[in-house]
Amino acid sequence: MVKGIVVRPGLAGASFDDIEEESSNGRVLVKTLYTGVCGTDREIVAGKLSMTRAERGSRLVLGHEALGKVVDPGNSSFSKDDIVVPMVRRPGGCANCAAGRQDYCTDGDFTEAGIRGKDGFMRESFYEEERFLVKAGTGEAGIEKVLAEPMKNVMKIRESIFGVIGRGLWDSVKGKGAWIFGTGTEGLLIGSVMSSLGMNVMLVNRHGLPEIQQALAASIGAEFFNSSSGNWASGEKKVPMDMVVDAAGAPSIMLDAVRNIRHTGVIVLFGTGGTGMEGKLLGDTIISLVDKNLTVIGCEDGAREHYEQAVDFISENGAKYRLGKLVTGIFQPEDTTVLSAKQQGEVKSVIKW
Ligand SMILES: [Zn+2]
Repeated sequence: MVKGIVVRPGLAGASFDDIEEESSNGRVLVKTLYTGVCGTDREIVAGKLSMTRAERGSRLVLGHEALGKVVDPGNSSFSKDDIVVPMVRRPGGCANCAAGRQDYCTDGDFTEAGIRGKDGFMRESFYEEERFLVKAGTGEAGIEKVLAEPMKNVMKIRESIFGVIGRGLWDSVKGKGAWIFGTGTEGLLIGSVMSSLGMNVMLVNRHGLPEIQQALAASIGAEFFNSSSGNWASGEKKVPMDMVVDAAGAPSIMLDAVRNIRHTGVIVLFGTGGTGMEGKLLGDTIISLVDKNLTVIGCEDGAREHYEQAVDFISENGAKYRLGKLVTGIFQPEDTTVLSAKQQGEVKSVIKW
């Protein structure tokens, strides 16, 4: 038996419980070091995420952001004590899934660890196939590497941006302005990557920047704009709005972006926190999209290469951008309260196993 955090899909609550141990089948045995807690976990624990389903029976092991250490490499090419990040999404049967791009799955027939149809990583240890583990070092692991899973989304955003900027005849992103809506973990990770590309970064939210985020904004060299001020012109004097990456999901942000972004601008939609919110799509919004030759990209998840790029980025830039500071709280697995509510001053809460 190992201990882990289990939920019953569709029902509220989470418990720290015994989990029956799996058989190895030649797979890699990984000891969990850290698991990150995000909004998706909390929606599952609140019983509100309708896509949630168990792998077998009625229980699902929670957790999709993880960092672990190889205990037994099984039949793999890993070595004992390798540090690894497990991938979340597992391929279904479509052509993109077969090509290793389950992040672009066309029929929805995939599973996601800790979310739908596959047990997650909030447990003392787990067995995993080699192809779903990404090496993140050997020996000691810096806690900032637990950010590799949320960071892999940013690497796909980067790939998507480079896939479309030629349309607007951009020769480079260097020197351009990137406005990042949302100042949580994803917003700050996006800001650090855009900054590393030589972009001028503006972090945006509707309520002001808490102290801890101010320090992180300073370390990535970002400006801050409070959108509730409505004074867009003053913000754009500091950082031109050539690109918008939305990590929030409120429809009003999309409309603000279309209204204020420069010609040939690129808008990347990543956040999904806007369920139930309304925004008014006017003919004028469409005219702006057309008239300014804007490009709007929806972007989610990432492939193996994005996990690898995320690990590399954190290794190379983690200290420079102080990414470890994003971890604002470390919790014991027995203390499941962290799964119910956002903590005071939280950027990223992490469970230590
Ligand atoms: Zn597929």
